[in-house]
Amino acid sequence: MNNQWVGDTVVKATKYVYFFGNKQTEGTKEMKQILGGKGANLADMASLGIPVPPGFTISTDACALYYENGKKLPATIEKEIDTHIVRLEKAMNAKLGDPKSTLLVSVRSGAAVSMPGMMDTVLNLGMSDAVATAIATKTKNERFAWDSYRRFLQMFGDVVLNVEHHEFEHALTTAKEKKKAKFDTDLTAADLKEVVAAYKQIIKKSTGKDFPQTAREQLRLAINAVFGSWNNDRAIAYRRLNDIKGLKGTAVNVQAMVFGNMGETSGTGVCFSRDPSTGENKFYGEYLMNAQGEDVVAGIRTPQPISTLEKQMPACYKELVAIYKRLEKHYRDMQDMEFTIQEGKLYMLQTRNGKRTAAAAVRTAVEMVAEKLITKEEAVLRVKPEQLDQLLHKRLDPKAKASAQVLAKGLPASPGAAVGKVVFDAHEAVRMVEEQKEKVVLCRTETSPEDLIGMNAAQGILTSRGGMTSHAAVVARGMGKPCVAGCSGAVINEKLKTLVVGGKTFKEGDFITLDGATGEVFGGKLAVIDPELGGEFGTLLSWADAFRTLKVRANADTGNDATVARGFGAQGIGLCRTEHMFFEGERIKAMREMILSKTPEQRAKALAKVLPFQRADFLAIFTSMNGLPVTIRLLDPPLHEFLPHEEAEQKNMAKELGVSLDAVKTRIAELSEVNPMLGLRGCRLGIAIPEITAMQTRAIIEAAIDARAKKIDAIPEIMIPLVGNVAELAHQKKIVVDTATAVIAERKATLSYSVGTMIEVPRAALTADEVAREADFFSFGTNDLTQMTLGFSRDDVGKFVPDYVKQGLLEKDPFQSLDQTGVGQLVTMAAQKGRSVKPKLKLGVCGEHGGDPASIDFFHRAGLDYVSCSPYRVPIARLAAAHAAIKAKNASAKSSATKPAVKKGKK
Ligand code: ADP
Ligand code: MG
Ligand code: MG
Repeated sequence: MNNQWVGDTVVKATKYVYFFGNKQTEGTKEMKQILGGKGANLADMASLGIPVPPGFTISTDACALYYENGKKLPATIEKEIDTHIVRLEKAMNAKLGDPKSTLLVSVRSGAAVSMPGMMDTVLNLGMSDAVATAIATKTKNERFAWDSYRRFLQMFGDVVLNVEHHEFEHALTTAKEKKKAKFDTDLTAADLKEVVAAYKQIIKKSTGKDFPQTAREQLRLAINAVFGSWNNDRAIAYRRLNDIKGLKGTAVNVQAMVFGNMGETSGTGVCFSRDPSTGENKFYGEYLMNAQGEDVVAGIRTPQPISTLEKQMPACYKELVAIYKRLEKHYRDMQDMEFTIQEGKLYMLQTRNGKRTAAAAVRTAVEMVAEKLITKEEAVLRVKPEQLDQLLHKRLDPKAKASAQVLAKGLPASPGAAVGKVVFDAHEAVRMVEEQKEKVVLCRTETSPEDLIGMNAAQGILTSRGGMTSHAAVVARGMGKPCVAGCSGAVINEKLKTLVVGGKTFKEGDFITLDGATGEVFGGKLAVIDPELGGEFGTLLSWADAFRTLKVRANADTGNDATVARGFGAQGIGLCRTEHMFFEGERIKAMREMILSKTPEQRAKALAKVLPFQRADFLAIFTSMNGLPVTIRLLDPPLHEFLPHEEAEQKNMAKELGVSLDAVKTRIAELSEVNPMLGLRGCRLGIAIPEITAMQTRAIIEAAIDARAKKIDAIPEIMIPLVGNVAELAHQKKIVVDTATAVIAERKATLSYSVGTMIEVPRAALTADEVAREADFFSFGTNDLTQMTLGFSRDDVGKFVPDYVKQGLLEKDPFQSLDQTGVGQLVTMAAQKGRSVKPKLKLGVCGEHGGDPASIDFFHRAGLDYVSCSPYRVPIARLAAAHAAIKAKNASAKSSATKPAVKKGKK
């Protein structure tokens, strides 16, 4: 057993190193926490009898100990490693560092959660001057020996000795230029020998020491470096961006090398059991002959598509196909695999569940159900709700595209449309986005993990080199960013800050447009269009709907928004904010007239002008939502928001309304508040100026009656905001009911409607049993509830919340994801208290949290009836609600299955 809490003492692991390969495999695929994903799956593949070079995995527990022990492995673990080196040497019939029969190894990182390219790998470890010479003689392949040595020096120098990467690149480029070689494969053994000498010089100059020639010392340093890389900036940034927490560290895999650089019957590649970009069930991948490891990913040469391997090496291809099919069945998921062919013999070096675009995630999940590989429930759980955001993003308008000139075509590495200003540097990209609120497209010859922040900030990414599995492509797909990779028709000069493509030169700040689905590059800004549901996406969501119990509504203020929301599957409007309706054209004038009124008569006259606008807006929303409930919130914001701040505007307003500038200024001064968020707003407005409540009610009821006359089933729910005390609700409700009754009688109609309240002032939650007596429904306004419970001003949190999150004082921004322990307690309490009085009280959420998957999970458990979110998040919320329901069901099944085993009286 590994580190486990038993009472108060930690029981340390007794085993830190696990062998794999040669029928001696000790790990299993279930041991990801201990062996990391790579190690666990290498062990698993070895157990399945798939050709995997043998090796051993040093556990994540050892990584934790490395840090506890002051960045050094305890001697006991070093000993355990020694034992396993001997085991590996026996298995390979070769010895580490022995020129007569040399064992070379790779040293690879791998945590429980895959972090592609984030930590470093060293290949060909064990090389030295003597070994290289011996290998050259023995294999009669001098080029291979010196190529392997120079690669080792470069990786070891970079990863372990922290020599600047570009120093090696520079030396290699110089050698290539000297020989007029296009690719490194064009360099001969003699050339490479010179490169090795140059590399050793670089290392000596940079570290002040000779390159370590003993293999065991190299290995010790490399293992430490991999453990050390767990906490390098890139790895930390990656974990932060991907919200990866609670891991012990990385494992280290030490594995016998196989060589893809032995000549034209050797090669290396990356492949997927399905297309990771579209999800199509088709073998997909790329490879390079006479190359090693990183070459494919690094985009040094542009690789060949996997299909050509069938002609080039039919036997290997056939074996690879059989293996990928087997692995996909075995893991019941799309696999991302690495392989190497050494002189015609195939070896698998890695398999893992492949990262994929949202489109691919949806398609593979739906198709795997049809193939009976997984259940519908699993399919629904396979797609992360957040990921759907990608599918809800824009694509290029086909009309705009038809008339636009394609400047160049690269690889369609990650779908979606990106329109933005050209930028050549990751930091500059971040600066332009954050400080100038610009949209940018990051253009790089190729990307490396240092570009991550810039890729994250950009609308899309364009690279001139690299394949579909290059760093840029893999990362962009993971982020859901459009990416065109390997666009050789684009000349990107990072130094001069120019992009030359299709005969046109773009400088930093010029606009370009990318179509990540086709790989096309356009100049300028092209029009984009909104997405819609359909095909597999629609199917998956319909399955999700069958699992979920929480309804999903949308927040929408106009008929148009409501129509979009309905298209995405909204089951009603959870929040229609009426104030947005007051700002346009004539309306704002009437509103201002109302605010400046001195007498109730003047006020009534002004409000009468607003009424028809409101009625027409409500009618449009009722029409879009025919048959579904529409919750309309009465006026909420402080009145000063409707008055101009600038003197010129104030003058205009005075002129328009025929009053003096002084009168305007006086009224503005009267309305000004020290703390407007806690001032005259919400129901307090309707209490101060009851005519507003009456007018809005009239507009709603009239619109509903008009709708019914047109055979439209309007279901109005009138919502009173910012109630903290049942008396406030009773006051407003009386006006609503009196007005509605009068209107219905006037129009000789019949209409049912309901009146409810927002729960957003903590006192309302605390006294929810009282409030419920007057309410047909509660809608949790979690934005204000968060603001008032935490005492964090919503409009000022930008100044300190990001810092709180960074320092770990808060796990997440509480305005994005519900503070479940604090604010959540008020939600639960209000739900219980409310339903203790009215068991059927309808409960919903209309804050931003209604579209956040983690919060939705909480709302499901709290027993709410619905969440409401922005129209584009409705599909995300539908899927998140299904996840919540499935998880709750599975958790309760688990606990009831274990219940009978628990005997009474026993703890
Ligand atoms: P990453 O996690 O960044 O993919 P890996 O540890 O998988 O890093 O290795 C980087 C590259 O080196 C991969 O292409 C892999 O296939 C190759 N590689 C790793 N170990 C070996 C080995 N023992 N023999 C040959 N190639 C290897
Ligand atoms: Mg790998
Ligand atoms: Mg509010």
